[in-house]
Amino acid sequence: TPVIGVLALQGDVREHLVALAEADAQARPVRRAEELAELDGLVIPGGESTTMSKLALIFGVMEPLRQRVREGMPVYGTCAGMIMLADKILDGRDDQETVGGIDMVVRRNAFGRQNESFEYGVDFRGLEDGGPVHGVFIRAPWVESVGEGVEVLAQLDTGTEADHIVAVRQNNLLATSFHPELTGDHRVHGYFVDMVRTARHGG
Ligand code: GLN
Repeated sequence: TPVIGVLALQGDVREHLVALAEADAQARPVRRAEELAELDGLVIPGGESTTMSKLALIFGVMEPLRQRVREGMPVYGTCAGMIMLADKILDGRDDQETVGGIDMVVRRNAFGRQNESFEYGVDFRGLEDGGPVHGVFIRAPWVESVGEGVEVLAQLDTGTEADHIVAVRQNNLLATSFHPELTGDHRVHGYFVDMVRTARHGG
């Protein structure tokens, strides 16, 4: 059983622990750099990326996290976690650092006031069985652009200007604008657990 940590500096940690357990992973909260070494994979939860970033620097986990990402540890970021995995962000705080790793530009709080929070069925590449994934968006970012190595897994199709990329993968890194951990549908967590299993077995 793969051991998957949830970065527990700030955000919806508990919901991810439950979703991962239901997707057959051994899930645990992690706060300290030393704990990263024991993990097969990591989830960076939703929350507030500016706070998470600041705490990651204060607790000394930012650089060790970057190191683990460079070494190829699978990481899944939801919402604020997606922002943390972006190489470049728009509308971030001036001093806001990210872990980075995915060659994409992500816009924070992108959907605007009238769309602060909404739910929408998302067609997710590779998870067609079972229909669209139930997407819960809360002050969510969207992906403004991606580099060549990035696979687009989902894009909104609402017929409005909200139609942007909302799920991506680059090698062992996965990110979604929305929060599957807040729904009973744990297919995206299952997808990530499969990524972790594959990476573990040298795939
Ligand atoms: N708006 C938050 C941020 O910028 C993300 C919101 C969320 O994670 N639900 O970090």
